Amino acid sequence: MKNITVIFAIACLILISGCKKNNMNENPFLVAYQTPFGVPPFDKIDTTDYMPAFIEGMKQEKEDIDRIVNNTEAPDFENTIYAFDRKGNLLKNVSKVFDNLNSANTNDQMQAIARNVSPLLSKHRDDIYLNEKLFARIKAVYEKRSEMKLDSQQLRVTEKFYNDFVRRGANLDPAHKDQLRELNAELSLLSLEFGENLLAETNKNFKLVIEDSADLDGLPQSVIDAGAEAAANAGIKGWVYTLSKPSMIPFMQYAKKRNLREKIYRGYFMRGNNGNANDNNEIVAKIVNLRAKKARLLGYQSYADYVIEENMAKTPANVYDFLRKLWKPALPMSVKEVAAMQKIIDREGGQFKLQPWDWWYYAEIVRKEKYDLDDAELRPYFSLDRVRNGMFMVAGKLYGITFTKRYDLPVYEKEVETYEVKEADGTSLGILYLDYFPRDGKGAGAWCTDFRSAVWEKGKRIDPIASIVCNFTKPTANTPALLNWDEVTTLFHEFGHGLHALFTQGNYYRTAGDVPNDFVELPSQVMENWAGDPDVLRAYAKHYKTGEPIPETLIAKIQKSGLFNQGFETVEYIAASILDMDIHSVRDSLQISVGGFEKQSMDKIGLIEEILPRYRSTYFSHIFDGGYAAGYYVYIWAAVLDADAFSAFKESGNIYNPELAARFRKYCLAESGNNDGMIQYQKFRGKEPSVEPLLIRRGLK
Ligand SMILES: [Zn+2]
Repeated sequence: MKNITVIFAIACLILISGCKKNNMNENPFLVAYQTPFGVPPFDKIDTTDYMPAFIEGMKQEKEDIDRIVNNTEAPDFENTIYAFDRKGNLLKNVSKVFDNLNSANTNDQMQAIARNVSPLLSKHRDDIYLNEKLFARIKAVYEKRSEMKLDSQQLRVTEKFYNDFVRRGANLDPAHKDQLRELNAELSLLSLEFGENLLAETNKNFKLVIEDSADLDGLPQSVIDAGAEAAANAGIKGWVYTLSKPSMIPFMQYAKKRNLREKIYRGYFMRGNNGNANDNNEIVAKIVNLRAKKARLLGYQSYADYVIEENMAKTPANVYDFLRKLWKPALPMSVKEVAAMQKIIDREGGQFKLQPWDWWYYAEIVRKEKYDLDDAELRPYFSLDRVRNGMFMVAGKLYGITFTKRYDLPVYEKEVETYEVKEADGTSLGILYLDYFPRDGKGAGAWCTDFRSAVWEKGKRIDPIASIVCNFTKPTANTPALLNWDEVTTLFHEFGHGLHALFTQGNYYRTAGDVPNDFVELPSQVMENWAGDPDVLRAYAKHYKTGEPIPETLIAKIQKSGLFNQGFETVEYIAASILDMDIHSVRDSLQISVGGFEKQSMDKIGLIEEILPRYRSTYFSHIFDGGYAAGYYVYIWAAVLDADAFSAFKESGNIYNPELAARFRKYCLAESGNNDGMIQYQKFRGKEPSVEPLLIRRGLK
C-alpha cells in the first residue's frame, strides 16, 4: 500500500513539475523573496507551489551533496563541513513555510501534500546520512581536526556533524548497518502501531454514557452541555464523556457519583491493557527490547545511555540522582494531600478510603476552600493587548529591545500581527509574527517556530523570523480578548522561545541556537516567572475598561495558587519519568511482563497507592511514539533551571537586573549553541543550578 502511494505520488509530481516547467520562475520559492526583510511572500504563495518547490529543493540539495563528494581536493573545513552546513537552502525555505502553515493554517490539500512528500523526504535524508563517500570526507576532517587550526565553533560544528552520522550508524560494518536499518524500520512500524492502538483505545473503545440525569449530580452546566453535545455528535441519547482530558478531567472534578468517576478513570488508565485487538503490552515489550538491541549495536549499555549522552544530564545516573532529589520531598507532600482530602471524606461521612479516581474531586474541594482563584474575576485585567504590551515591556527592561508594529509585511491570515524587533541602538534583530486565535485549520495548543533562523553569512547576520501561534479566547462584539491565567503564562512562555530565536548568534546552521532537549524549555519557562511577579503584574495587569491596576488581593491569590496540589503533580510526573528511565535502562531484554516490570519499578520508589504514574506503559505516548524516550524528565529538569535562573534576579534585589540579563542573554540565549548546555548555564549563573528554588516555588520546602 505504502509503495503504491509513493509511486503514485512521484508520477503526480513529474506531471505537476512537468506542466509548471515553463513558468518555474513564477514559483515564489524559486526566486529570492522580494519582500521587506525577506519574509516569505505569503500573498504570492499558492498551494500548488509547494510540491514543485520540494522536488526542486531535494534535487538542489542532492547536487550540493554531489559537489562535496566529487570534490577532487582533499577534504577540509571549507569544502566539506562548511559546504555541508550550507547545503539545501531551497529545501530549508520551502519546508519551513510548509511545515509551519500545515500546523497553523492547514486544509485538505496541504495535508495531502504532507502525506505525499513525507516518504520522499525521509528517503532523501537516508540517502544523505548513508552516503559512504560523504561520511568518509566528514570523518577525514574530524580525524584531523586538532591539526587544522580550527576555532572553537569550527571544531564544534565538525564534531556535531561527525556525531550525527555515527549516531545513525555510519561507522558500522555493512552487515551491522543492514541490521540497524532493519531495527529502525521495525521500530518505526511498532511506534505507529502503538499510536494507532492508543488512538482507538482513547477515542473509540470507551465512552461513559449517562442516560439518567441524576447521574450528572455535581456537574456545572458547562460540563453538562459539553456531555450533551458529545452525545449528539455520537448519535446517542443522553450525555457522553470520553477519555480525552478536556472531557474526562472536569467530570472527575465535579461528578458526585463515585462509581462513575471510577468507571471513567479505569477506562483511562487501562488503555492499551485490555487484552483486546488494541492491546499495547506486546508492542511495548518489543519496542523496549529492540531499542536495547539498537543501543548495544551502536556501542551503548542501554538505550537511556544512547539518548542522554546528548543531553545536559550526560548520564542516566545523573538523571536518577536529580529525580530522587525532587522525589524525596514530593512524596511526603503528596501523603499530606491525601490526609487533607481524607479529612473531607470523613467530614462528609464518606466511610471509604481515598482512591485514585477520587483525587480530582476532593482536590477541587481543597482548591475552592484554600486557594479560590476565580477565572471570571481575573480575566478583565488580562486583555490580550495589555498582556502583550506587558511582555514587550519586560523584554525592553531586561534587554533594551523595542517592538514596532508593521503593517506592510505579508501574512498568511489577516489577523496575524507582525513586529520588527530592534536593539536599543536601532539595529535590527529580526521579525516576530503573532497569531493568537483558534481557526479551523489550526492545530491545538500553542507553539513558537521560525520561518528563518539566525546565522552569519559573509559578515552579515541573516535576521531570524520567529512566529508564535496560540489558541486564545477570542474577542467578542463587546469585549476585547480577555485571557485566563493559563493563557497569560502561555503567551509569556512562547515569547521566551521567540526571544531565544531572535537573539541567536552563530556562524553555522547546525549549531546556532542548537540546545539539548533538557535545555530547550529554559528560555521559555523562565519568562513565566516574570508574568506572575507582583511588581510586573502591577505594571501590566490593568482593567480593560477602567485602566485600574489589578487589586492586591488578586495578586496574592495568583501567588498562592501556585502551591495547589503540587505534591500530586510532582509525584505523578516523577513516577512516570522514573518508569521511562527504568524501562530504557533495560540492558538485554525485559525478563517479565510489562505490567510486572511497571509494578516493580513503582514499588521500588514507594509510590503511594492513591496516585498512578502520570502515564502507564501501555499509553505512554511520549516515550513510545513521541520522541521522548528516556527523556520525559526534561520538563522538570528545565523547571529546575528556570526557577534557579529567576532566583538569581530575585536575590539581586532587582528582577530587571541589567547585568544578569546581559549574561543570561549572552550565554543562555545568543550563544546557547556554542557549548554544552551545562557549561553555558554555569557561565551565566557562576555555579551549577540548585533544585532549592523549584522546591520553594512548589511549596515542597
Ligand atoms: Zn515550550
